[in-house]
Amino acid sequence: MAKSEGIPAPAVRRLSLYLRHLENSQGRNRATVSSRELSRAVGVTDAQVRKDLAYFGQFGHPGIGYRVDDLVARMREILGADKVRSVVLIGAGNLGKALMSYRGFRKKNFNLIAVFDNDPQKVGEPAADAVCDRIQSLDKLEAVVRKHEVKLAILAVPASAAQVIAERLATAGVRGILNFAPVILQTRPGVTTSTVDLAVQLEQLSFLVTTGQTGDDRDGDGLN
Ligand code: NAD
Repeated sequence: MAKSEGIPAPAVRRLSLYLRHLENSQGRNRATVSSRELSRAVGVTDAQVRKDLAYFGQFGHPGIGYRVDDLVARMREILGADKVRSVVLIGAGNLGKALMSYRGFRKKNFNLIAVFDNDPQKVGEPAADAVCDRIQSLDKLEAVVRKHEVKLAILAVPASAAQVIAERLATAGVRGILNFAPVILQTRPGVTTSTVDLAVQLEQLSFLVTTGQTGDDRDGDGLN
């Protein structure tokens, strides 16, 4: 396994985009792809593709390009997407319910094993796609996380509750938190958070539209 420290975050983000394109190519029975094709798919230069992939190892074959099956397998391994990962979801409101019904997580090897909420009216309701078939009380959070050695969590609670729950998750052993609450979480070393804020992305899009920049902001950094 290639070393991953010191690899710029945009390169890691692009890896997921390369993987998505390669999986599509695999679905169309393509044996190889060129760096030119990957560059067009992701909206970067060929040189950027080669540079990104070089962070993770030697993949290309001169005159052939990249072998799709090999590269997909290697990228899944690098991204940890080759293993089934258990995930817990906290917050079974509007957003939480949409997320728990989303089948795309399972397809990508993310297994939603439990959903928690602190509303007694919601506890005990069916939890759509989760392995546990009922929404559970937040009191059970630590026990479930420890028992299943869960490393990933999704937070879909109000901003006012997010920090406290993030700390509880970290103490119980969670190492990655996908946060939908509009708040910047303070985390301890060893815990990574990724905050999704659709309003911020709309703002970025609005900026690009206002300034007349066109194209696809594929890595969501507000730059084309
Ligand atoms: P909602 O009010 O419908 O749901 C919130 C849920 O969290 C409720 O079921 C509530 O009972 C539960 N909850 C509240 N405090 C809790 C606690 N301490 N422990 C466990 N559960 C608790 O809200 P929503 O529309 O689903 O939004 C959820 C969060 O996601 C909000 O912070 C919202 O701002 C955010 N949000 C983000 C985006 C985005 O683009 N990132 C989009 C929509 C909503």
